[in-house]
Amino acid sequence: MTNLSIQELTARIKAEAKRLGFDLVGVTEPTPPPHLDVYHQWLESGRHGGMAYLANERSVHIRSDPHLILPECQSILVIAVNYLPRDLPQVMEGAPRVAVYALGEDYHAVLIEHLKQMVAFIEIQVERPVPHRMYTDTGPLLEREFAQRSGLGWIGKNSCLINPSHGSYLLLAELLLGVQLELDIPFHEDRCGTCSRCIDACPTSCILPNRTIDARHCISYLTIEHKGAIPHELRHKIGAWLFGCDICQQVCPWNRFAKPTKDPAFQPRSFLNPPDLERFLNLAPDSWAEPLRSSPLLRSRRRGLLRNAAVVAGNNRDQAAIPQLTGLLLHDPEPLVRGHAAWALGQIGDEGALTVLRNVKESVTEPSVLTEIESALDIPHEKP
Ligand code: SF4
Repeated sequence: MTNLSIQELTARIKAEAKRLGFDLVGVTEPTPPPHLDVYHQWLESGRHGGMAYLANERSVHIRSDPHLILPECQSILVIAVNYLPRDLPQVMEGAPRVAVYALGEDYHAVLIEHLKQMVAFIEIQVERPVPHRMYTDTGPLLEREFAQRSGLGWIGKNSCLINPSHGSYLLLAELLLGVQLELDIPFHEDRCGTCSRCIDACPTSCILPNRTIDARHCISYLTIEHKGAIPHELRHKIGAWLFGCDICQQVCPWNRFAKPTKDPAFQPRSFLNPPDLERFLNLAPDSWAEPLRSSPLLRSRRRGLLRNAAVVAGNNRDQAAIPQLTGLLLHDPEPLVRGHAAWALGQIGDEGALTVLRNVKESVTEPSVLTEIESALDIPHEKP
């Protein structure tokens, strides 16, 4: 057994986390998260939308106490890494946008490798196998609460964890450890003060007064987690967001201090630099995933990406997209995609787009697509 003191062991682990590229590291105790009641209220009011995995009985129960995940747990190591790339894509006004975290590699895979290295390092230090669990946004943990309690920052009004020196473009990861470490002092201050920029800027007003989000209206949820048709009343508010949304972080004054990462994994891949609407509208059923290998965009699947691309084309009144939208309306295997292509053509609303809708209408049998076409033709369109 090691003779290291708790303080020395903690210092070595933190130094190793920094060496591996983590920007922030803190330690908290494995006691229940402090705002569990807020989470329960959020679920009870249905604000998690279609994310049923958050509300199942086991998931809710296990979030109430880290010892239910790892009975031997003595400490939680919380780490954060800045994901803002050095060079963001140059996106023209109205061009499709992808949330910054999704421009590079899937962070789950990137961070889990670093966490495995952390565990190996810790086991060498304590000279024994260490019971552990590792999570990167994937486990039943209220991770921002543990991050706040381990001193990494405060939970802002936009519900993101904000660090005064690094801003909020942070990915979080946790190691539950069967090792006692020195605890950090929780971050008690609320440095949002009287600011309300994120609340004012959110196009769908989904930011709630208790620092939670009504996911059902959040553009990130609608373009990533939501699997069905996007409600008509929200489509315009999505603007040009093709996957995710960064508005509440872009306007946050604390992101003046965001530090660009040098990690090549988080730099924009060429397919998304910049995102090109035409390429997304052309994603073929058999090869769509090829340019997106190991990208977070895979989560929306092809049908979700095409649905979103059609919404962006409609919001842009993009006449150049009419041939592709027509092809999707006529031939796409997914009714969801055909329906959103019809909506987009209705938004474009010139004679060419309306002629396509009128002609196609006669041969459509799928009720959801027919409803979209009828609704698209019902929009008052200006005569040339
Ligand atoms: Fe807080 Fe203002 Fe940032 Fe919103 S924009 S999280 S209110 S500091």
